[in-house]
This record gives sequence, C-alpha cells and structure tokens, in this order.
Amino acid sequence: MSGSDTGSQPAVPPHGAADHEQRLWTPWRMRYVGGGARETGCIFCSRLVDEGDAASLILWRGAYSFIIMNLFPYNTGHVMLVPNAHVASPETANPAALVEIATAMPGALRALRRALNCDGFNVGTNVGSVAGAGVAEHLHQHVVPRWTGDANFMPILSSTMVLPELIPITYAKLRAELDRELGGSERVSLVILSPDGQRALFVAGSQLPDAVSESDRPLWRTASDRAADLTDGVPMLLGWAGPSRASATNGALAFSVDAEAAPRQNAAWVPVDELDDSNAREAVARAQSLLPPHSSP
Ligand SMILES: [Zn+2]
Repeated sequence: MSGSDTGSQPAVPPHGAADHEQRLWTPWRMRYVGGGARETGCIFCSRLVDEGDAASLILWRGAYSFIIMNLFPYNTGHVMLVPNAHVASPETANPAALVEIATAMPGALRALRRALNCDGFNVGTNVGSVAGAGVAEHLHQHVVPRWTGDANFMPILSSTMVLPELIPITYAKLRAELDRELGGSERVSLVILSPDGQRALFVAGSQLPDAVSESDRPLWRTASDRAADLTDGVPMLLGWAGPSRASATNGALAFSVDAEAAPRQNAAWVPVDELDDSNAREAVARAQSLLPPHSSP
C-alpha cells in the first residue's frame, strides 16, 4: 500500500491527470457519449430500455428511478437522478419514485464526494422549458460536483467543453462508488492489461486480482494501489470492466500498465486467449475495448 491519500503520490492521480496524454475530450471515446444530436425521442427513456448501461452512462438502477451521467456535463461527475416513468413534473410523478430519488441522494453525494474529492454540489431541478429544463418532458434532478476554484475548469472553446478527466474514467470511479453506497458492493476485480491487450495479470494462477473497500478511501484508489502492488510499472485506470448492466454485481475496473512491467507478489501475466473462465474472459474483453487504439508497442 502506498499510505494515506495526503502523504504520498497515488498510483493514479486523483483528479485532472488520470490520463496525462489525453487531457481533452477525445473523439475516439465519443461512443460513450451516445448519439448526440442525431437522437430522436426522449434520451432518458431510450437509455433506460437499452441494455448497455456502461455505454449509456447509467450508473445505478433502482426500482423506480436511475442515476445517469450527464451527456453534456457542466463539470466532471455531473449526474442526474431520474424517475423511470416519462413524467414532466413532480406533480405527476409516482410518489414512490420521488421517495426513491430522495433516499438515493445522500448515497449519491457520498459516492461523488469520495470518488472525486469534490468540495460541494449544486443540486436542483428545472421543471418545464421555461425554467431552463433541457429535456423538459422527462423530470430529472441535477447533481453537479463543485471544487474550490473549479470555474477554471469550465471554459467553452469552440462549443467543446474541456473536462479534466475522460468520461469512461469518471464513469468507472462513480460506478464503483455508487455500487458500494447504494448496492452494498465492497469489492471490485482488477483487469490489468498490457498495452496491446494481449496479456492480463492474474494472481494465484487463474484469479483476477481484487480490491476491498477501505473506510473513507474511494474504491478506485484502493484498486489503483492494489494494481500498483502487483507490478513494478505504473497502472493507469482505463474505465469500467464489470458487467454493463447497472444492477449487476461483480464490479471490475480496467487498468493498463507498461509492456515491460514485471509482475510482483503472486501475480503473473497470462495470455488472454488462453483464458477459459467465461467471467474473466468477458471482463478482459470489456477492458480491451477501453484501450486506446494506437497503444501497440
Ligand atoms: Zn422519457
């Protein structure tokens, strides 16, 4: 372990430098942002019926509501709490959905605060387009994390928001922390790939490494430390490698590490085409899809 959050350099920098080669919002990641302007119909309803929650950026599914990352965020970690039903106002919403959203809110704030180390939030709802609602026909409650001095992170250049962190990385951090807060999931698996995606680090022969949450530390940071313990390289968080469906368990985080990194402890590189465990194979495939396309040695 690398010690406390304040006294040492984490394996993956906490905010703003998780991928120092890709500061800007990169076009090859745009599949995570969705169809954008070409979409027709209600974006919340269409994402709710889609099974691909990691691509749709759905972070959590309750019985009557869900939490989704904003497709055009005002700030890193901008999420929305949304009733499943297509209603425009609390006046017509199922009271059970309003209760579920209110009940989920504290856990969502704790997850955001811990995962992103933010200092505060803007929380609010615009009802009706006259009030400023972008999607007026489907009620949604915004939660925008705020950092001291974060106006510096919000310039709009040529209609492109420059965010300090890639969407898939933020998604993975929040998904792991919301699974913990709202789903009681205290553990994530680690899929640590070579840059070409052809080898993964396994422990004890055929197990994916895992990490168990520690009190006030974000799970992604605990996982990053665990990944750093297993090689002499510097693991970089890529994104979410667990099941796409946001109500599933078996969470996993994807990392890449330098090609020449040597395994430590009981870890060993395993060629991914030799894997026979289907869960591990699926997690590796999801992690491979997160690798940059030009990272081959
Ligand atoms: Zn809708």
